[in-house]
This record gives sequence, structure tokens and C-alpha cells, in this order.
Amino acid sequence: MPITPLSRPVSPLPIRASSANERTIDRAPVIVGGGVAGLMTALHLAPIPVVLLVKAKLQTEASSVWAQGGVAAAVGPDDDPALHLADTLRAGDGLCVEDVARRVTAAGPAAIETLLRYGVRFDHGPAGALQLGLEAAHARRRIVHAAGDGTGREIMRALVTAVRETPSITVLEGVEARRLLVTDGAISGVLAASATGTVVLPTGRVVLATGGVGGLFLHTTNPRGSFGQGLALAARAGAALADMEFVQFHPTALDVGGYPLTLVSEAVRGEGATLIDETGARFMDGVPGAELAPRDVVARSVWRHLGDGHRVFLDARAALGSAFAKHFPAIAAACAAAGIDPATQPIPVRPAAHYHMGGIAVDLQGRSTLPGLWACGEVAGTGLHGANRLASNSLLEAVVCAEWVAGSVAAAPRGFDRQQRLAAVPAASDPEPIRPILSTAAGVLREHDGLADCIATLLPLACSVGPAADPALVAMLIAVAALQRRESRGGHFRSDFPEADEALRGRCTLTREIAFQVAQQITGQVPRAICA
Ligand SMILES: Cc1cc2nc3c(=O)[nH]c(=O)nc-3n(C[C@H](O)[C@H](O)[C@H](O)COP(=O)(O)OP(=O)(O)OC[C@H]3O[C@@H](n4cnc5c(N)ncnc54)[C@H](O)[C@@H]3O)c2cc1C
Repeated sequence: MPITPLSRPVSPLPIRASSANERTIDRAPVIVGGGVAGLMTALHLAPIPVVLLVKAKLQTEASSVWAQGGVAAAVGPDDDPALHLADTLRAGDGLCVEDVARRVTAAGPAAIETLLRYGVRFDHGPAGALQLGLEAAHARRRIVHAAGDGTGREIMRALVTAVRETPSITVLEGVEARRLLVTDGAISGVLAASATGTVVLPTGRVVLATGGVGGLFLHTTNPRGSFGQGLALAARAGAALADMEFVQFHPTALDVGGYPLTLVSEAVRGEGATLIDETGARFMDGVPGAELAPRDVVARSVWRHLGDGHRVFLDARAALGSAFAKHFPAIAAACAAAGIDPATQPIPVRPAAHYHMGGIAVDLQGRSTLPGLWACGEVAGTGLHGANRLASNSLLEAVVCAEWVAGSVAAAPRGFDRQQRLAAVPAASDPEPIRPILSTAAGVLREHDGLADCIATLLPLACSVGPAADPALVAMLIAVAALQRRESRGGHFRSDFPEADEALRGRCTLTREIAFQVAQQITGQVPRAICA
């Protein structure tokens, strides 16, 4: 494991949380991440004591807070979980694990009930029924939302309130997990760092709920801090990862500069907004499904149109006009900050990395291949999304799977008191140098030579001890999986293999060792001692 020398000694005791009772949290399950997945897992585990590590303040730096469209669930009178399942499988382009998709979509209505019980104020119509939005590739209106486009903010408000009121949950804010400790082939602790020092949390049960990978790309809708740290933690500890090549690029991020980019939700297209270029021409109307085709199809159309030298805009003037700000207040505010009035002006947009379908390979209970390690939410690779996520299925997955993960953690043995082999704490990660490398090779369009060059550049960085090491490792895992998949499917498009190949239909599972072997074959030998 590449490590930097210790700047301060590692404390064998838990950090003193505001009201933490050290005796009750000693060897308690540790949940890493304070988005919907982490919070829901902690709440479902109550009254079992848990420690929740969050590197930022709760309600900041989590995709969950930024979610706009809502939660997909078959709750409408014309809907059925079987229809939701069919849409999920179609979007997943042959790679969904059908049993997972069936169970998650079936659990959708109950998940909405759970969130209502936690006090989430979803939008209701005048007759008292839940208002349901429509998003791309859904055959029915089934997107349950709150505060128009403020769904994530409202869900997080309710869940954070519930967590703060739950005495069994010890929240450690500003504490970043830097390494998982493994003893005798099983989890034995978490090595973490905060502004005040470093700490080891001894535990035999860790749940990673660290979110996505958008921060590894030049253009993303994700918070800056979402750059796959959980994947690096799991990979370096020896867990397997699945479907790493499948990154979803959202076709409509607000293209006004800055980092990250504000998302212009698909729900805007659901309300009838169209994609036009600088000449005012609609360029999607010849494509089946047009603006509401699956995200990857729309993203590629926008990408190619930009590549042909055009600018691309989302035009909501006719469909929404002056009602835009009422339906989408947060997007309207972001547009206003950039000097754009969507009621009277088209909105400039471009594709941006948005969601990672791949993740830590887990079963339905969130168990990874490493004993004592679970994953939940976007960092988990359950197989629900296959090659492409159906819009608004990710919050659903986080809410539904958190309950199953919690059940599994609660039933697992506490773990015997393993001897800690303390490691030094690695440097804080910096993904910035990785962004241009990964974006060029593994963006909306990919091909062999670009991916091979990318891997050759990333390999020494992934084997280094510098701040780019962990981001480089995750980027390399994405690039290796993308190189190995010699076909186009869902969110993964190879311009040298533009068709899907039935013979290649299957999930790709990788470990760090396999990725290093592939990278070594491509680039020649690297010193094994450094990469081990
Ligand atoms: C702009 C935007 C809009 C979206 N809209 C929708 C939508 O409408 N519907 C939908 O279903 N999905 C939507 N998504 C996707 C969805 O929001 C995410 O997939 C989901 O919220 C992920 O939840 P999570 O709990 O897994 O991760 P996150 O909510 O991203 O939380 C990750 C947490 O882990 C913490 N963390 C990370 N690394 C560490 C570490 N090393 N140590 C300690 N803490 C760490 C972070 O600080 C954060 O608290 C959207 C995403 C974005 C970016």
C-alpha cells in the first residue's frame, strides 16, 4: 500500500465526537459518507451504535443534496413496478442484474412511504396525491419530487434532522477515511484524517457510502469531492469492483464555465423543452425518442454537435416560458446567476460526467468480496443500473438498499478483536492532474489508442505515493475496463467498436491486481514492489 510518512502519530482511540460515548462506539460499525445512502443505513441500524464519518459538513459536498428530478417509484394509478422494471432493464441495455432490478423497483412505493415517515415534504397536487414528474426513458410519470427541483435538498434536510435526533449515531464531520485496515483477509479498521490529526477506528464492519466519480472528469455535475475515494479504499483493500467502464454523461449541464457545472435536469425536457443549436435548428428530432431518448443517446448527439463546431442550447421558452422559475427554481437561480432568463432565452448546455453505474461489486445485501466490507449508494455496484442508469433510479437504490445493507451489517458478527497493523496515513488526494487524462480518453466517446495512452500515463501515478495516487488508481480501473469492453453498450461508447456485441454481454469485474496486470501488459514492466 503506497503511504507517505506519518506527519502525526496515529491515535488508537476514536476522535472525540461532540457527544460520543467512546465505550459504545468502540468497534461499532463505521459508515463512511453522509449522503442519502450513508444516512439511511445509519438510521436503519438504530438503535445499534454506529459511527458516521463524513469528510465535509453534513448537507454539503454530497450529490444527494444536489439531486433535482426526484425519486423514481411506481406509485401512480396507471403504473406498476413491472413497468418500472421493464424501463430499468431497457435503459440498462442488457447488463442489469434482473433480480436486483426487480426487487429494487418493487420496493419503490415502500421507499417513498419510508421517506414520508422521516418527514420528507414531497410535492403534492391540489387533490392531495403525490405530484409525479416524467423523465427520459420512463413510460409513466413516476418521479416523486420535492420543492420542484429541490428534491435532494429536502430529503437530506429530513434525514439529517432524523440522524441528529438519533442517539445511537455518532457523526464525525470533517473526518476523511484514507485507508481501510485489513487483517487476516478481513476488515479490521478505518484509518482517517481530520484537520486536527489522524485516527484509527478499530472495527470489523465498514459500510462505504462515498458517492460517485464525476470529480475525476473535466466537466461534471458532481460535487468537487466526489472523485471515487470509496473505490480507491476498496480496491487497495483487495475488494472487487464491477462495471467500472460505465459512466453516465448527462447531456445538459449548464455550459457557463466554472467547476463543477450546474445540472439542468432531464425533467425540463420532460416538460417539453427542446435541444437546439445556435441557428435555432432542432437536431434531435430525427432520433427515436428525440430529446427524451436514453441519456447516452442524447449525450452523444450533443457531444457530436458540439464537435461539429455548433453550440447547443436547451430551449424551454415555448414549453414553460414564464412558468420555468416556478417549476425549476434552483435551475432558474443558476441561470440568473449566469445572466440567462430561461423564460426568454435558450440555456447553453453541454454533456458532463454525472453518474457512475459501476462500483464496488456487492450482492443484494451490499456485501463486497472482502469480509467486513459493505457498500451502499452510488459507490456500490449492485447491478441495478446495468450499462446505463434510468433517471432517478439512484436515489431509489440508495434508499432501498440502505435497509438491506443495515440488516446485513446488524446480523454480521461484531468481528473478533484483531491485532491492528497500523499503517501511516496517505496524503490527502488531489484529482486535478487526473481530469484531463481521463476526460480525453474515457469521456463520451472512447477508442483503443486513447485508452492505452491514458493507462500508460496513469499507471506510474497510481503506483506513486503522491496526492494523485488514489484518483489515478480509480481512473485507471475505469480506463482498463473501458479498454477491455470492445463493444458499445449503454453509457460506454467505443468509436472503434460502435455496435453492441452479444458475445460480450456480461459484467466486467476487476480487482486492483488484475488492472495492474492489464496495465503492465500494455505498458511494459513496472516495479511490482511499488504497486503491491
Ligand atoms: C446534480 C445532480 C442531480 C442529481 N439528480 C438526481 C435525481 O433527481 N434523482 C436521482 O435518483 N439521482 C440523482 N442524482 C444522483 C444521486 O444524487 C446520487 O447518485 C446519490 O445522491 C448518491 O448518494 P450517495 O449517498 O451514494 O452519495 P453522496 O450523496 O454523493 O454522498 C457521498 C458522501 O460521502 C462523503 N465522502 C466521500 N469520500 C469520503 C471519505 N473518504 N471519507 C469520508 N467521507 C467521504 C461525502 O462527503 C458525502 O457525504 C443526481 C446527481 C447530481 C450530481
